[in-house]
Amino acid sequence: MKRVRCPKCDHYIPFDETKYTTGQKLIFQCPDCGKEFGIRLGVSKLRNAQKDENPDENANEKGFGSIVVIENVFHYKQVIPLQLGDNVIGRYMKGSGINCPIETVDPSIDMNHCVINVSYDKNKKLKYVLRDGPSYTGTFVDNEILGDRERRVIEDGTLFTIGATSVILRSADSKEA
Ligand SMILES: [Zn+2]
Repeated sequence: MKRVRCPKCDHYIPFDETKYTTGQKLIFQCPDCGKEFGIRLGVSKLRNAQKDENPDENANEKGFGSIVVIENVFHYKQVIPLQLGDNVIGRYMKGSGINCPIETVDPSIDMNHCVINVSYDKNKKLKYVLRDGPSYTGTFVDNEILGDRERRVIEDGTLFTIGATSVILRSADSKEA
């Protein structure tokens, strides 16, 4: 499965590229805004799309860690680097201004769903603290919903769930990167 972005509203539209051949022109109608647009399935375009879907997971090895986002329905995977301070995680919307936008078709992810705060603890090690947005559908760690004021320390490999999407923390010193 691949997806194209609506040029008008940025909505993602999934499609099965294996049904088409290179060079074929595809017409899409955006289910969100109704915009019709076409793409030509080209070799270089396909290669770019694949690159987008499989970002280099080692790219952020020496940074402040990253989150691996797995959209369960379509099995898309995105790796989003984290920064020191608050990392606001939510659904990508043009102009929303959050620093960890997820490109997703999952409607149960809020635009401001949850936050990972990255800081140094007193041993100069990076510390990751997760809190809910607050969001409508909640943020779950180990199938347990975070309380409104809860601050949960998470570690490398911690899996949490927002909407129908799973997110895994990769800390900066992660062996798996
Ligand atoms: Zn649209």
